[in-house]
Amino acid sequence: MRATRSLMTLLSATALLLGSQFAYADRFKDIEITATPLSDNIFMLTGSGGNMAAVANPEGVLLIDSQYAELADKIRATLTTLSPAPLTTLINTHMHGDHVGGNAALAANANIVAHKNVRPRLMSNANFDKAGLPKTNIEQTTPLQHGLIELVLEPMPASHTDGDLLVWFPEQNIVHMGDLLFQGRFPFIDTNNGGNVQQYIENTRYVLSRIDDNTKVIPGHGELTNKAGLAAELAMLEQTLALVQQMRAQGLSEQQIIDKGLGTQWQAWHWNFITEERWIKTLYQATEA
Ligand SMILES: [Zn+2]
Repeated sequence: MRATRSLMTLLSATALLLGSQFAYADRFKDIEITATPLSDNIFMLTGSGGNMAAVANPEGVLLIDSQYAELADKIRATLTTLSPAPLTTLINTHMHGDHVGGNAALAANANIVAHKNVRPRLMSNANFDKAGLPKTNIEQTTPLQHGLIELVLEPMPASHTDGDLLVWFPEQNIVHMGDLLFQGRFPFIDTNNGGNVQQYIENTRYVLSRIDDNTKVIPGHGELTNKAGLAAELAMLEQTLALVQQMRAQGLSEQQIIDKGLGTQWQAWHWNFITEERWIKTLYQATEA
């Protein structure tokens, strides 16, 4: 009887495990990788996870971020439609799983480039396939020539994480901001991995000062945007931080601020990952009594 019961327990545990694996695979089943042309040979790619970009030259493909390992076949298939050439360079904007998950599956034979703080963070992540570790670790602003296209890789002071990299295309007037921009949404600021709210705002101001009305701005999450979109994000960051600071100065606790909320003006920025409550908690941590 006891043996039967433990066999049953084992069977149902196995069924649960298999079920959850199927559910996980299912999550990517209907995802399509879409390529939007931004300039000659330069594309923004979307699927699930952080927005990617590609330079699809006839002699070699450069990819920015790799989403998830489960999407690697679909990403490769889309890249093949843009250029038959192999992937030679992969740039990671930072260390989060929805930006580096496909590294090993897509780019084990390519040069993988990231901010110098990304490699040690991925080394200590047991779930990360080490065949996808960065090989070139950037410490300062670095030009990178890919065929006829010039990119500039700019490591930023810690803000979303402590390994954030901006990718500029000066000639084409395009910037990939990684998760230094969540377009139209409250951002995730990963304070457990070196993130910092004040510096996130500083970095947003910095990018705004470097772009013009024609710049194409690729956010880590959300739609392709421009200077006006980035300015709106900055206004949200500054005003919601000031609001939380003000309420805290009036003696409200974190919970009381959550109960009161940020007001109707910012409702549209709430999303399933960074809810208004979570954003208030992030801001509260960044303020002082
Ligand atoms: Zn991120």
